[in-house]
Amino acid sequence: MHRVATYQFRCAEDGVFDVSLPMGTAGPQWRCPVCGSDAVRVFSAPMLSRTSRALVAAIDRAEKTRDEPDVVSAVPPRSARTLGPMGAPNPALRRLPRP
Ligand SMILES: [Zn+2]
Repeated sequence: MHRVATYQFRCAEDGVFDVSLPMGTAGPQWRCPVCGSDAVRVFSAPMLSRTSRALVAAIDRAEKTRDEPDVVSAVPPRSARTLGPMGAPNPALRRLPRP
């Protein structure tokens, strides 16, 4: 099983691009896919949102579970049972099993 990592290289002409390689196989340089010249490995992540979406998503999830208390855990039950604008109960709601 190969674990693949995304490496970033920066071409002087074309900017940063990503290369997915088995972990540990990326060298300090990679050939630019656009112009074919040598691109230099980028170790920082200036384009984080584009390159490591999975990582960002993971961080996002962690932030949410930490920062958002159970605000939306319960829907106010009354609003679903109030009468609609026509003065009649919503027919879709009538099909729902009564609690
Ligand atoms: Zn290039």
